Amino acid sequence: MQRFLDEIAEHARLSPEKGQVARYIPQLAKIDPDQFGICVSTADGACYVAGDADVPFSIQSVSKVFALAMALGHAGDSLWSRVGREPSGSAFDSIVLLEREQGVPRNPFINAGALVTTDSYLDMSAPKEALGGLLHFIRAAAGDDDIHINATVARSELATGHRNFAMAHYLASCDNLNNDVDKVLGTYCHQCAIEMSCRQLAMAGRFLIDAPGMPRLLSADRSRRIAALMMTCGHYDGSGDFAFRVGLPGKSGVGGGILVAAPGKASIAVWSPGLNQYGNSKLGTEAMEAFARMTGWSVFG
Ligand code: GLN
Repeated sequence: MQRFLDEIAEHARLSPEKGQVARYIPQLAKIDPDQFGICVSTADGACYVAGDADVPFSIQSVSKVFALAMALGHAGDSLWSRVGREPSGSAFDSIVLLEREQGVPRNPFINAGALVTTDSYLDMSAPKEALGGLLHFIRAAAGDDDIHINATVARSELATGHRNFAMAHYLASCDNLNNDVDKVLGTYCHQCAIEMSCRQLAMAGRFLIDAPGMPRLLSADRSRRIAALMMTCGHYDGSGDFAFRVGLPGKSGVGGGILVAAPGKASIAVWSPGLNQYGNSKLGTEAMEAFARMTGWSVFG
């Protein structure tokens, strides 16, 4: 495993084409694209790292996995009357389907669906407590208390997030938001601004892999279903491509992180800030493709 990761990290380091960092969030536009980290946390308790695996980065939409887990814990399956479970085939921040489908977002991993998820876990408490609950969940999953929100990144997104505000207002107009738009957006942007290293993220993802000794934060059924949604919707309109190339459920974020679950085997986190045309980490996707080839791991046998 260590040899695989060293090889993958070296390949990424030498790659001339690293993709484009996200520019629409001013704080993310400043990140050095020349970084790459990977961590594999295996079901037997071992942890393998290579590259910048201990550098914290903005997890952005990878947070939607943890937010969904928490919202399901609170609202149970009633959440599914407010958000669907189908791939959208459109960009993460696309607004077009919302009108056609009367304000019920296609899935919880596109932005519109994630706003509903955030709204749902906000029903229980004020934003500060809700975010505290989310951090508590992530820290417990990772077994690491040194995981925090970068408030500067959150503010930077809040100041420029017109499209997300538009979506939240649209959801509200369809009666699919229980809380104030400002409250939902403020919480959502802070949720996305959580920072973690690959090592912390791989550790935190262990609750998804259903193996003895892994943290059991949700029922096995629910974890399996979250992984199913990661496979079908975790990379937006690039989900089919990721499934084809990697064959494992993954969730990406515009910070360049990807969390991947190899059921029964390992939780994997990879990070490189440059993105491909779908807004998913370019080198991260390539690294996972190489990793799946090297290990032979795939949910398709
Ligand atoms: N905070 C980002 C947004 O809402 C998350 C998007 C992403 O990571 N794909 O635009």
